[in-house]
Formats: sequence, structure tokens, C-alpha cells
Amino acid sequence: MESGIQLEMNFEPNRNRFRTRLGSGEFFLLFEINTPSRQADMKAAAERLQETEFAVSAITALPAGLAITDKYTAADTAHICDFTAALAPGERDRHLYILSGRDCTSRNMRDNLKLCHHAGMHNLLLVSGNAAPGEESRQTAARHYCDSVNAIHFAHTGYPEELFVGGAVNPFKYTPDELFGQYFKLVKKINCGAEFFVANFGWDMLKFQELRWYLSNRGLNLPGIARLMMLTPEKFESIAAGKIPGIRISPDFQIILQNELKYSFTQFEAAQWRRLQLQAAGCRLLGYNGIQISGVERPDKIRIAAARISEALEEFQHFDDWSKAYHEHLARAEMAPYPHRFYLFNKLFASAHPETAPPVNHAQLPTVSRWERYYYELSRFMFAHAGRQSPDEHYYAKRLLVGCSRCERCRLPETCFICPNTCPKGLSNGPCGGSRPGGRCEVAERECIHQRIMRLNRWRNSLDQLEEHYIPPGN
Ligand code: SF4
Repeated sequence: MESGIQLEMNFEPNRNRFRTRLGSGEFFLLFEINTPSRQADMKAAAERLQETEFAVSAITALPAGLAITDKYTAADTAHICDFTAALAPGERDRHLYILSGRDCTSRNMRDNLKLCHHAGMHNLLLVSGNAAPGEESRQTAARHYCDSVNAIHFAHTGYPEELFVGGAVNPFKYTPDELFGQYFKLVKKINCGAEFFVANFGWDMLKFQELRWYLSNRGLNLPGIARLMMLTPEKFESIAAGKIPGIRISPDFQIILQNELKYSFTQFEAAQWRRLQLQAAGCRLLGYNGIQISGVERPDKIRIAAARISEALEEFQHFDDWSKAYHEHLARAEMAPYPHRFYLFNKLFASAHPETAPPVNHAQLPTVSRWERYYYELSRFMFAHAGRQSPDEHYYAKRLLVGCSRCERCRLPETCFICPNTCPKGLSNGPCGGSRPGGRCEVAERECIHQRIMRLNRWRNSLDQLEEHYIPPGN
């Protein structure tokens, strides 16, 4: 049998079944369940969570667990620890908990890590968090966000043995700047202590493969989970309308989905099951250790999903058979969202895992403008020592030139003199996963500031900083 490279890891033999599974190389399933809004009936939500957990633990075909999201579906969700209190304490080590940095100061994040640690929620995916659904950029800017890199650093330094921490990455980026921004930030997360990664949703399997190749080319063989979505007509409409941050559907794929919708809901659903099967089998062959499935929460659907995925794993044991079926299923549709279609490697899909380093595609990277150079040199002349000065020093000049918010610790010299607080989420260690096509900000009508920071770092020959230099919070 030809299967994906499942990576051998040497973990402590303490009781953490999620960690053990990731290390064992046995392919596994995680079913995503969202923490409800504060207004929801918590008793009913807790009962639903228990039923879902029961359904997941009854799966025998494959190892399975839950992935419990935080602040994902509503602007104001209950605290994840209140929600997960419904889980039996002895079972919590089977699951993954996705802790969001939205509405979190650094202190709140440290408190949340402590709560998770005490509650036995030791497997954490730490993310910066999406903007709340439907809000405007000034509302996003009024919230606090804890950068995922800072959160990983807090977890790793505070609980190096107890917490098992991962980082998220969005490989579905189709311009070089956007893609490298994601990859560099993932490497920074790994440098700060992330021990596994979760790749965000997408239907373009070339991008899942590209990420795997990129990491193995760099010798970063950490375990990975691919996040897959079971589409409903409503979700398809929201994604097509650009309402779900960081998720894109190409025009060709939209036509396929519209055709599937033409006849009946049953036909649409059947097509989505088949797609989920193909993606799951592909992820296993491409070397992912498991998948995290969104949109399958009801116990009956969980049972169906587990059975179908297990059938697909049986059906596709060889990469060539799988890639033929994948292409036929998609009728060779273009999965990159026109006009952007950058893939880092040439010959993706020629094999599951190349024997030698795969050929790399030439990246057309934008250059810094004369204005950007001038601005950089002027700021460097004026604020080169801002990191060691009091927040009041040069305050008015900083406010005029970069929109200073008087942080206790100025980070301008570490971010090419672009203030991280001009990012609506205030992220300083790299971009979030939600940017829009062409590197537009997830929430504001302008370019993501981290693209500008990357351009300047490239011009200064200091791209390594984007992976290696950890930037602590400003306050
Ligand atoms: S500026 Fe970049 S990192 Fe900040 S919210 Fe916008 S897209 Fe995300």
C-alpha cells in the first residue's frame, strides 16, 4: 500500500490521546463544533456537545475526536471553557481546542491559557481570530486581538511540557506576497513553539500539497491537519459573496457548484459527500495526519461522514488513482481564483512526494516604490531608537507620520517603521489568514500592512526577520 508520509514523532508517553495520535501516524478525523453565542441556551448547547462527543467516541473505523472552535460563528460567544465544561474531564485529552485571540489582551490570553491548562484542555490551536461577522473596520480596530505568535510564545514559555500547541496557516493564497506571508508566519510560529499545524479550508488540493512540499523542503516535518468543509447552499453563497474571511472559490468551481445546486438539495449534498471523500483520501496520501471537518455536527451526519471517509481511504490507496479521480470529479476545472494563480512549485501532482527537491516557479514580487524607500529612510532617521525610548518621545512626529498609539513598547524599528497598530487587528508578527484577493486587508479598504512590511524586508535583504524575529506585544 502506498500511503502518505506519516511523520514519526517522539512524544512523552503521558495521557494525551490527541498528541499520541498525531505522533502515531494513524490517520484520524476531527469534527468541528462551534462554541455557541452568549445568548444561546447553554444547557441545550451542553447536551448537544455531549451527544456529539458520544457519536464521535462511538466511531470505530478510524480514530476520531472533536475540534472545538472559539469566537467563530458570532460576535459574542460564550467562553470556550464554560462550553467545554460539559465534556467529561477524562475525555478532554482526545480533542483539539481552538483558542481565538479576538477580544483578548495579552493578559486575557495568559488567563485563558491558565484556564485551559486547569480544565485539562491541553491541545490548543492558537489563532489570532477573524473579525466578527458583519462588522466594519473601525469596530474591528476597537477590539483587542492577541497575535497568534504571541499566544504560542506565552503557551510555550508558560507551560512547555503540559500544553501541546499548534499554529494555523492559510495556504490558499494565490499571489507570491500573500503566500510567503503565510509561510513565513507559520515558520515563526514553529520557532516559537508550535508543534503541529492546521491548514485552513479550501478545495484546491494543489495548495494542500504545496504547503506539505514547502515544509518538507525546509526540513520542517511537523504533523499537519487539513481543515475541510462540507458545503451547504447557504455556505456556498456566503463564500461566493466573500463573506467568509480567507476562503475563496474560483469562477470554474463556482460554476460546478451552481450546476450541482440546479436540481435538488439531495443531489447537491451527494456531490459534497463525494468531494469530502476525495479530499480526505487525498490529504492522507499527501502526508496529512488527519482532517478537521467543518459543517458535520449532527450525530447521524458524523456517523455517515466516518463511514464514507473510511470507504474512501480503502478506495484510494495509490496517489495516481486518486489524482485521476480528483481531476475527473472536478472536470479539470481551474481551482485558482482568476486573475491570481501563483503556485510555488512546478509539477505539483506529478507525484505525492518528490524524490528530489521539486522545481520552483519564478515569483514576480512587487518592488518597493520610491515613496516607500523615502518614508522608510526618514522614519529610520527619526525613530531608529523608538523601541528603547519612552512612549512620549517623538510622540507628535510618530503620530503624524505613522499614527502612533503610544504603546508602552514601541515596535516601529522591528516592523520597518510601519506601525502594527495600523493593522485593524494590531498584529505585529505577520498577517492573519483572512486577507482578500491580491493581499487586500480582511477588514479595511487597503493593502494588508504585512505585505508592505515584507516588501521592505525584501529590499533590505532581511526576509529572515519575518521568520526568526519574535516581536513581543506593545502593551
Ligand atoms: S492588515 Fe493584514 S493582518 Fe491586519 S487585519 Fe488586515 S489582512 Fe489581517
